[in-house]
Amino acid sequence: MSIMELRSFVAGEWHGADGSARDIRSAVTGEVIARAGAKLDYQAMLDEGRERGSPSLRAMTFHERAAALKALALYLSERKDRLYDLSLLAGSTRGDAMIDVDGGIGTLFALSSKARRTLPDDVVLPDGELEMLSRDGTFLGHHIYTSRQGVAVHINAFNFPVWGMLEKLAPTLLGGMSAIVKPATATAYITEACFQMMIECGAFPDGSFQLITGGTGDLLDRLDASDLVSFTGSAETALMLRSNSNLMARSVPFIAEQDSLNASVLGPDVTTDALEFDLFVKEVVREMTAKAGQKCTAIRRVIAPAGMVDPLVDAISAKLSKIAIGDPALEGVRMGALASADQKKDVLEKAAMIGSEAKRVFGTDDPELHGDGVENGAFVSPMLYRCDSPDAANKVHEAEAFGPVSTIMPYRDLDHAVSLMNRGKGSLVASLITHDPTVARRVAIGAGAWHGRLYMNDRDSMKASTGHGSPLPLLVHGGPGRAGGGEELGGMRGVKHYMQRTAVQGSPDMIAAVTGQYVPGAAKTDADVHPFAKKFEDLRIGESITAGPRTITKEDVEHFAEFTGDTFYAHMNEEAAKASPFFDGRVAHGYLLLAFAAGLFVHPDPGPTLANTGLSDLRFTKPVYFGEAISVSLTVKEKRPTGKGYGEVLWHVGITDSEGDQVAGYTLHTMNASRED
Ligand code: NDP
Repeated sequence: MSIMELRSFVAGEWHGADGSARDIRSAVTGEVIARAGAKLDYQAMLDEGRERGSPSLRAMTFHERAAALKALALYLSERKDRLYDLSLLAGSTRGDAMIDVDGGIGTLFALSSKARRTLPDDVVLPDGELEMLSRDGTFLGHHIYTSRQGVAVHINAFNFPVWGMLEKLAPTLLGGMSAIVKPATATAYITEACFQMMIECGAFPDGSFQLITGGTGDLLDRLDASDLVSFTGSAETALMLRSNSNLMARSVPFIAEQDSLNASVLGPDVTTDALEFDLFVKEVVREMTAKAGQKCTAIRRVIAPAGMVDPLVDAISAKLSKIAIGDPALEGVRMGALASADQKKDVLEKAAMIGSEAKRVFGTDDPELHGDGVENGAFVSPMLYRCDSPDAANKVHEAEAFGPVSTIMPYRDLDHAVSLMNRGKGSLVASLITHDPTVARRVAIGAGAWHGRLYMNDRDSMKASTGHGSPLPLLVHGGPGRAGGGEELGGMRGVKHYMQRTAVQGSPDMIAAVTGQYVPGAAKTDADVHPFAKKFEDLRIGESITAGPRTITKEDVEHFAEFTGDTFYAHMNEEAAKASPFFDGRVAHGYLLLAFAAGLFVHPDPGPTLANTGLSDLRFTKPVYFGEAISVSLTVKEKRPTGKGYGEVLWHVGITDSEGDQVAGYTLHTMNASRED
């Protein structure tokens, strides 16, 4: 095949490799398949991102960015075969390539959907609760997120050329920031092909993303406080890059995901005939062999009750012996090659370090090992080590052999298991296979502080479980200490890395104007017609009606109690109610207040208000005694388009008594039909 000349995408132009380019070899044959690297105008890239890409993204609302993300995901889905084909050259089987390619596209879909469901159709993201800073409610505080105004530099690892790019891009673009993507050179030909599709797709404005194949030159020296770096790779490179004096001097955020000595623990309750035993063996073998162990989340340390080590070694070895290693293009091959000869060398070196403290009980470290159908290439055998004195050992807890290498070690009791887990000094994930929930809690309390994710599995969840090694778009991916101290994904948590949180103080009108959401005390406008009779687009934030008063009688309360069966003492027993620290006598049911409030504010006709989908933030703040009259206000607080012919409207509802004090407050959620034009 002809050699691929990889290009970079700089300020809207493609740039080919130049004389400074590095060769990239096939993981399977060792032949040169591509060249990457060129001297680029890094300042032009930053200018493009800061002055074109990021401002265009910031002009789009969260929902518009989410829709673009979905369009991109659909476009890539239709073209993914090309990416599978290229992945063969990196030693990946079809299954491996699907983890990378489908996992990446799935992340775009998942985050797009989550953003549309949970973020406002706006560019400002309110955070947390409104804080009352004055007794009379005229001075409030709220936190908001707005987009960082620079460029996100993504430096990615070789093992996930597609997922690694997309899992960082999705939250970056949703956060309104443009990105410069720098894939690891060894597999950059897969990233470049995917990136080319992203440009062809055109879902995002010009300048939203740029690509560097090759080195980053002095790019990091040019960043400022509005930019950020998100790095995945080795701890050494992370340390070197995060110590860049410009990054430190200007407080440029640096998110890192690096080495991780992930553990998997077999619970003390599990016996060899339990379903959990087979489940544990399956998870370990899958994590050792999927992507030939080149997953940042793979199981490196297998921690088991001392009496279970022998049966586990037998069971894991039996399964590993059935894994066919070879050219991933061949039928029946279950494990392909490592991504490069350099990786093979590194894995064998790290395996030798582990071997200085542990005995190899399965596999070979033969550097001449070749897979089925090939004579060359970066193939290694799965290697299982056994370390019987894990307290005295260091390398088994420190050396990340980034391949199909794991070490099994015994524990005495659960506290010992937890202390071994934590010897990784910070990991992305640890798993626990147990059928005993009390074991789960003890492990979570003992090991949570050292792990980014805890994966628990047993017979009840094994069919639906997602796997120890799969980072999920809606859950945090990252870990403390050795794992880099960073966090990615986690649903909308990941988006916030690309935005700045700011505390805002002011009057209700100021806060409402800033957040684009009605807050109690802000100016309202009287609705010209009943707002339930209005289509989604015609409703304005702050538009309001009031209704009432309605007097609540003893008969109302007794009728409600009898009708619903809610005869709680506070409504029916005068003596007991008086004795309560909350009441001076019998009071109306809170649910009765809600029902009467609805009776006061609803508009009965079938119409644009299609359904009531729930209440949130409900509080009963003052008791209502018999004979008291209540009034209600209904105010448009927030609108969330769904793109489905209707939108979600959040209404602030306040129920007040005859003194004007609020007795109940909540947010009502409805779905309102959209205009057809
Ligand atoms: P590296 O740390 O060598 O590279 C990671 C990324 O950093 C690559 O894109 C690389 O580019 C880039 N890079 C390296 N030097 C610089 C520099 N001076 N300036 C800017 N960018 C730079 O890691 P690898 O991906 O090569 O993997 C090596 C080891 O890292 C693995 O064997 C494994 O042990 C560990 N690793 C751990 C992961 C985890 O999350 N646990 C994930 C991936 C790797 P280039 O390729 O062009 O050098």
